[in-house]
Amino acid sequence: MKKVDIIGGGIAGLALGIHLQKNGIATTIYEKHSVAGGLCTGWQRGDYTFNGCLHWILGTRDGISFYHFWKEIIDIDSVAVDYFDERVEIELPLADRNGSHIFHFINDIDKFEQYLLGIAPEDAAPIKQWARQVRFIGKYLMFLPPVFTDAPWYKSIWFKMKLMRLTPMLFFMQKWARYSNVDFARKFKNPFLNMAIKKLYFNEMRMTVLFFAQAYATFGYAGYPHGGSLGFAQRIAEQYKALGGELRLKSEVRKVLTDNDKACGVELATGERTRADFVASAADWHWTIFDAIAPKYIPETLKPLRSPAKEQIFYSFCMLFLGINADLKSMPHFFRFPIEKITSPDGTEYDQLEVHIYNYDGELAPAGKTTASVNLQTREGEYWISLRHNDIDEYRRKKEELTELIISRLTQKLGADFTERIEVKDLTTPATYNRYTGNYNGSSQGWTPMDNIMQSISVKPTLPRLKNFIMAGHWQKAGGGVPVAVYTARSAAWKICSIFGQKFKLK
Ligand SMILES: Cc1cc2nc3c(=O)[nH]c(=O)nc-3n(C[C@H](O)[C@H](O)[C@H](O)COP(=O)(O)OP(=O)(O)OC[C@H]3O[C@@H](n4cnc5c(N)ncnc54)[C@H](O)[C@@H]3O)c2cc1C
Repeated sequence: MKKVDIIGGGIAGLALGIHLQKNGIATTIYEKHSVAGGLCTGWQRGDYTFNGCLHWILGTRDGISFYHFWKEIIDIDSVAVDYFDERVEIELPLADRNGSHIFHFINDIDKFEQYLLGIAPEDAAPIKQWARQVRFIGKYLMFLPPVFTDAPWYKSIWFKMKLMRLTPMLFFMQKWARYSNVDFARKFKNPFLNMAIKKLYFNEMRMTVLFFAQAYATFGYAGYPHGGSLGFAQRIAEQYKALGGELRLKSEVRKVLTDNDKACGVELATGERTRADFVASAADWHWTIFDAIAPKYIPETLKPLRSPAKEQIFYSFCMLFLGINADLKSMPHFFRFPIEKITSPDGTEYDQLEVHIYNYDGELAPAGKTTASVNLQTREGEYWISLRHNDIDEYRRKKEELTELIISRLTQKLGADFTERIEVKDLTTPATYNRYTGNYNGSSQGWTPMDNIMQSISVKPTLPRLKNFIMAGHWQKAGGGVPVAVYTARSAAWKICSIFGQKFKLK
């Protein structure tokens, strides 16, 4: 029986393990942390479980490729999923024609269109154009991303014919990749809408991304797994073990071993050396390339990525998790509001706060209590990681400083009534994500997608001079996220099967 060593028990490593076990290939996953799941995680503090990751996952309902990817590895239909009427509420300094300062980013495109027309009939043309694009995408979601298999030739021709239908989508992508939400906002005469559309995201976002996200939400293909990210990841880990996979926790890998330019096992931090026919890394890309494999296997083209620009790495977070002694049922689940500017110890300035209230997930707190998080995006991962490394006391003081700044702005907005009920505070920084998952600079989703996604950093899963080695996970496609982790794991399993001369079976 063939044997594959997998580095990393995040979603990608687990999904890869499941596929290989189903294909009769023996696997061991080496995971350095004491729990599997990687970034898809959560943790307990007193009465509270903090959801450290997912707000939504693509493919929670049938109708898109991602649903089938999940179904291939777990019984996704048995996962309880929450869907929301609104993505986020954004408070603006301006009021709309009804005197409201709140912009409602509604998920259902029909309701959203009516809401926008109600507050800005003068902008009917761009509003209808917006809604038309979302409905247009809806017709194609079931074909995206295209899935290639080694199906019999007649099925494969049928599949390629179906792909031809995607041609109008290519024109759509080309057109809208040129516009950001800030460009699109210029089409709106109504000052409230003009400002709201500019503020939909913290940084400018291409309209293609916005239209896609809205299409997934409007047709109900993306939701939040009830109970949070850790429970969701544990379900995948259990499935892997049920299929006979060996999950070795607290097993940090140091090196990929090679024999005659073929990967043949791994060396653990303990010095233990393993033997395998193939090695797959579903761990951090930067660590894999620049630390785990021998320098002679690094292609010249990848060498500049040893020190990537900050902007090339998807932002990380400082997140303040709160356990609150109140049910907060009357509050929106996700909202943003302007604040008197704060400057984080890492130098990033914030003039608004984004708050997530988990008042819809009773599994995270006892009755009458709720968890919440305040999310601050940062690209200053290096600051937090080196501070923690060099001066742990100062790191703790800086965390305390940022926590107090955030609490002071929450008090200004929500009142002392709110902040006095906070029982537990826990601030994560990029150093937290880096320490527990190894992600470079604490990146939350791998590489940043560029304005034109086709120009984003594109790394290959294999290395030209190293045989029997492959990579999977969110660093393999700019933009990352758990769907990318599962998609790239599936592709890696398919490739490994074909190298072993086997047909890739999905059942
Ligand atoms: C706050 C936050 C919110 C997010 N929200 C969403 C969301 O709503 N929807 C969404 O789709 N995505 C979201 N993401 C992104 C998503 O969590 C990730 O893209 C995805 O989980 C990545 O999975 P992965 O398996 O590729 O990598 P990882 O999760 O990074 O897994 C890599 C694993 O490898 C292990 N490892 C690393 N080095 C070693 C070593 N030397 N030896 C052994 N093991 C090692 C790590 O411990 C880790 O378990 C969010 C991320 C964050 C941080």
